[in-house]
Amino acid sequence: MSASHFKPTATESDPNAPTVVFFHAHPDDEAIFTGGTIRQLANLGRHITLVCATSGEGGRPAAEGETGHLRQTETKKAAELLGVDELLFLGYEDSGLVGEVETGFAHKPVDGAAKALADALEPLERPIEALVTYDSDGIYGHPDHVQVHRVGKAAAEHLAIDCIYEATVDREYLHFVETHVVVEAGLGERPENYGLASTHIGRSTLEISTTVEVSAELDVKRSAMAAHASQLPADASVFQLDRKAFAAVYGQEWYLRSGPVGVLDTLDQSRPNLP
Ligand SMILES: [Zn+2]
Repeated sequence: MSASHFKPTATESDPNAPTVVFFHAHPDDEAIFTGGTIRQLANLGRHITLVCATSGEGGRPAAEGETGHLRQTETKKAAELLGVDELLFLGYEDSGLVGEVETGFAHKPVDGAAKALADALEPLERPIEALVTYDSDGIYGHPDHVQVHRVGKAAAEHLAIDCIYEATVDREYLHFVETHVVVEAGLGERPENYGLASTHIGRSTLEISTTVEVSAELDVKRSAMAAHASQLPADASVFQLDRKAFAAVYGQEWYLRSGPVGVLDTLDQSRPNLP
């Protein structure tokens, strides 16, 4: 396992400015769950570091060549669109949807992986303002996502980061809109009738501390999702949504904050009524 490092955008961030670290399990998670937030922060001139634990080799196989390599390339494209300053791959193996890859990230000792994350961040030589991970159920239960939660928490302790945002989805809100890709990934099919609010996907509305309204960033979020074409091809359900339906499903991003009020709480929380 070896970490790799890319600089997707030629940004001119203040060299001493703190960074906001988004720690994700696989390529495409950054766009789906946090893409609008990243773009909004970048628009405000914040320095953004995106870390992927794996290259998502367990996703749909590439038509040609090696899936992990293709997905890294797709992530570079998405990161560029989102305004990411630093992109890091920790080099762990994708564990698969049910953790079937025994050498995968989900099965690695938490302390060692937290140290690998901390070591990867150290050369940035800038303070970390906040760390974004996943809720303790990995949003929909993927073992690599649950491991991101654990490893992120341990790394935050190690690096003395007191502000953590756990990305999640609002399952009660999503109950009322068209399907979200996380529902398909986590449940297969959307439960009929009033089932979604009682599933294990995400969190209930009341548990969510921070809802970032990202409708202004939706076009770029959609493009960043589309950059992951090996996993989200043009005929994927998400791209069949019209503009209004896409805005309803992907126009908000949800977090559980632990620690003091931080940078994500300064973003747009306006929750406008949908058109
Ligand atoms: Zn994932």
